[in-house]
Amino acid sequence: MTSVSPHKKARALKPTSRRPAKELCSECGLCDTYYIHYVKEACAFINQQIGELEEQAHRRSRDLDNPDELYFGVHQDMMAARKQQPIEGAQWTGIVSSIAIEMLNRGLVEGVVCVQNTKEDRFQPMPIIARTPEEILAARVNKPTLSPNLSVLEQIEKSGMKRLLVIGVGCQIQALRAVEKQLGLEKLYVLGTPCVDNVNRAGLQKFLETTSRSPQTVVHYEFMQDFRVHFKHEDGSTETVPFFGLKTNKLKDVFAPSCMSCFDYVNSLADLVVGYMGAPFGWQWILVRNDTGKEMLDLVKDQLDTQPVMSKGNRKEAVQQSIPAYDKGVTLPMWAAKLMGVVIEKIGPKGLEYARFSIDSHFTRNYLYVKRNHPEKLEEHVPEYAKRIVGQYELPE
Ligand code: FAD
Ligand code: SF4
Repeated sequence: MTSVSPHKKARALKPTSRRPAKELCSECGLCDTYYIHYVKEACAFINQQIGELEEQAHRRSRDLDNPDELYFGVHQDMMAARKQQPIEGAQWTGIVSSIAIEMLNRGLVEGVVCVQNTKEDRFQPMPIIARTPEEILAARVNKPTLSPNLSVLEQIEKSGMKRLLVIGVGCQIQALRAVEKQLGLEKLYVLGTPCVDNVNRAGLQKFLETTSRSPQTVVHYEFMQDFRVHFKHEDGSTETVPFFGLKTNKLKDVFAPSCMSCFDYVNSLADLVVGYMGAPFGWQWILVRNDTGKEMLDLVKDQLDTQPVMSKGNRKEAVQQSIPAYDKGVTLPMWAAKLMGVVIEKIGPKGLEYARFSIDSHFTRNYLYVKRNHPEKLEEHVPEYAKRIVGQYELPE
């Protein structure tokens, strides 16, 4: 007689039910499946356990005395890269989609968890298990909203798939790693992207309406290394808005509480991470965390131009100044914001120093958020590396 796994007796929550992590829920999708059975251990916002899961995924946790690991997590290699022939319509040059397609074509995996959008709304996420390159391509470009990628986990066990690639952001990957052993897989590959300042669908609308000149035609946006938000519109035109001109007083509550409490910007538990913020403008930034990540990257190396990472400037003063500005919701007049953007772009942090700038400003903001809104969680929820990073700055009470 075969025994039924205990999780199969659990029941997924209804879409309208309150999640166990309450307002901190990032809608990662775990609770939409019977794996909710493990939520108390697995949820990134109930049980922060990045150190332990690093050991499980990479055989060691990060070396806190190594400055690069303190910031970027366990890694064996780091570089800037771009596709020689970018994928049209991808977020950057399409390295993520290219790796996924190659893994499927070469039979390394039978399916790829990724997120397309619904027919009605280009920004409404629709997670799927892709089984063809066309389905992977249809998932290219960021859905800049909370996405329940793990909601397809039940389908994996039912389909009998044994080799799987999951693409996702940090909170999804933390929960995935925590239930990895229950999935019945022979091999799991994890391809992560960094993630910060995400929003729910209503929050996205508010962000677009307060920031863009034409919110209804935006197809794609990114907070870029030149300290501007770049919006791309349906007609192919680009609009740029300096960070310092963002209406912080109106945007203060727009980001999801989960993202205001997140300290896993760089997706510590993925095998391979593909972002942009540690690379020169126009290039992508790659962190190879372990041998599985190397195997994945090697599949597309001949499609890429690569260069070593670089680092220039000093972020510290800009970060320290951004802390009270954000806290008090100060917005500069547009002319001053543009000027500040130009000055900081000329003399400001570049490459890895820009990545550190972004990590420092978000971790200090988030530390204050947790301290004020969930003081009882502060000690356990903030990982040691984040405490050290935040400890470099003076914070208001
Ligand atoms: P593509 O080939 O276009 O593929 C994008 C992949 O992302 C698709 O496979 C899709 O399944 C997946 N995806 C799309 N939306 C989501 C979502 N909401 N949740 C989970 N998976 C999703 N990089 C940085 O360096 N710094 C940042 O601050 C940063 N912020 C980000 C915020 C968000 C919300 C997201 C989703 C990504 C962020 N990234 C950030 C990563 C970066 O924007 C690119 O996604 C990454 O460099 C890959 O680009 P690409 O052209 O290779 O991807
Ligand atoms: Fe459940 Fe994920 Fe929300 Fe945590 S973040 S409560 S695991 S859906």
